Amino acid sequence: SPGTGHPEWIWRSGELVPWEQAAVHVNAVGHASVAAVFEGIKAYLAADGRRLLVFRLEDHLRRLADSARLCRLSLPYSGAELGAAAVELLAVNGYREDAYLRPWAFPRGIIREQMVPAEAACEVVIDSWPFRSALDKERGCRAAVSSWLRVSESSMPPRAKAFSNYHNGRLAMMEARENGHDWPVMLNERHKVSEGAGACLALVRDGVVVTPSLGSGVLPGITRDTALTLLRGLGFPVEEREVDRSELHLADEIFFMGTAWEILPVTTIDGLTVDDGTPGPVTRALSGAYGRLMRGEDDTHPEWITEVPLS
Ligand code: PMP
Repeated sequence: SPGTGHPEWIWRSGELVPWEQAAVHVNAVGHASVAAVFEGIKAYLAADGRRLLVFRLEDHLRRLADSARLCRLSLPYSGAELGAAAVELLAVNGYREDAYLRPWAFPRGIIREQMVPAEAACEVVIDSWPFRSALDKERGCRAAVSSWLRVSESSMPPRAKAFSNYHNGRLAMMEARENGHDWPVMLNERHKVSEGAGACLALVRDGVVVTPSLGSGVLPGITRDTALTLLRGLGFPVEEREVDRSELHLADEIFFMGTAWEILPVTTIDGLTVDDGTPGPVTRALSGAYGRLMRGEDDTHPEWITEVPLS
């Protein structure tokens, strides 16, 4: 059960396996990781306490397939099969609280002497663990533009959620921490704003929401898409375009958006306080709408929710 530090079951290549038995040979760890891809998905406990609501499961699994294609791995399972596996895993592990799902795919077997060949057979695993949402908490973070540029189309596909891409964000994150900030903002190779180390980003100026376009080197964030849809529904104009660093410095509001961080307000950027240093009205309205959607209190997007009855 979640209280023991790990769930009872993990899903591995078509079957439920006891967590302790989901092992690989030590030699399967190094080279194979270079081509591994993954997803991060959240299942929220509904406000009525009777169901888990997996958020945008199909969209996340489609992105997993896209990431695999970009890394030239062939996934041996369809999105529908992985979706059913994820639902089964939540049920057998008996979650009665918010739970995070981590599907990932990696080349099977031991790859030692060469980099991963395109025809390598692939394993798929789904891990899970409980998490605590911070949506109802007053939060903020200090962000700073990194000296590390976001990986670009000229080196490796930024649209892939590939483990290898995360070394880029990791370097930026460590730099941010060394300089006394919480999170980095990465620019792309054109020196336009791209995204954070694990989340997309938007700013607000004069009531208009502005976010870097998908061609800015961002991961096509599912929270980004959700937030833009919610913001348009709330009546805010939204622009997806190239964004300059100085626009961040002049913004009334800035927030990160991602599955893990949900909607995270930025209170300082490059040491400048964003407005009065508290989350602004657009960020608050968005967080509220996002929270209602996650908890099943807003049923206007049934296509985004997969219900799992509590066992
Ligand atoms: N960019 C990066 C690099 C990420 O790791 C994530 C988290 N998956 C995001 C953006 C946000 O994507 P999503 O909203 O789909 O979680």
